[in-house]
Amino acid sequence: MQKNSKPKSIENIDAAEIARFESMAPIWWDRQGAYKALHDINGLRLDYINQRAPLAGKAVLDAGCGGGILSEAMASLGAVVTGIDMGEVALGVARLHLLNSSLDVDYQQATAEQFAETRPAQFDVVTCLELLEHVPDAASVIRSCKNLVKPGGDVFFATLNRNLKSFLFAIIGAEYILGLVRQGTHTYRKFIKPAELKDWAETTGLSPMDLCGLHYNPFSRRYTLGGNTHVNYLAHFRRT
Ligand code: SAH
Repeated sequence: MQKNSKPKSIENIDAAEIARFESMAPIWWDRQGAYKALHDINGLRLDYINQRAPLAGKAVLDAGCGGGILSEAMASLGAVVTGIDMGEVALGVARLHLLNSSLDVDYQQATAEQFAETRPAQFDVVTCLELLEHVPDAASVIRSCKNLVKPGGDVFFATLNRNLKSFLFAIIGAEYILGLVRQGTHTYRKFIKPAELKDWAETTGLSPMDLCGLHYNPFSRRYTLGGNTHVNYLAHFRRT
């Protein structure tokens, strides 16, 4: 066998990251459980996506879908959703939850890189939320998302900025003080500055449309969208 013959898609997986999500996957839909924060922000991010790319009737790919919180929400608005993830337990939970919701989502075990090889340019919208900061090569996932969306289609990313404030808020605050997110969920050096995300996206042929901050107020315990992208943020791109 040739050296370096291992497909890139296999390389761009951090097994420890997958295992961390898998360990809590059985309680993915517990609103007060390990993925509480994802439930709490879901309405906001769904509105953001749906306002910028109305979802009804669209073919949508949700990359790194986990237990399917966002996938189902998008399906409930009339999108035809495919969800991909590398976590087997998470996908099992996601499939099982369809029995509760009576929604239809096609869940498959794949990386964005693998899927881009078999289903290029087949989706009107690609969502890739809270995945980039968990893979070894974020630029590769961004490139694959571009390859998956049709020309003129929309791509959404959500991730964490990298600066002192995001370290204090997203790791010390959210994981160790407030317990919003399980300890060990995030690794500071994997956080991505909006300028880095924009560079990678533009290099691969995605045009920036919008950047939006996602804030948590520990006093009201509420999340809101706004202009401050210091910690969590969402970004909208369009394939040129
Ligand atoms: N996007 C979902 C879940 C985010 S949690 C949401 O925002 O609600 C991150 C998910 O990414 C986990 O389910 C994990 O299994 C998955 N993941 C991590 N690395 C991956 C990879 N290389 N390919 C596909 N999925 C991956």
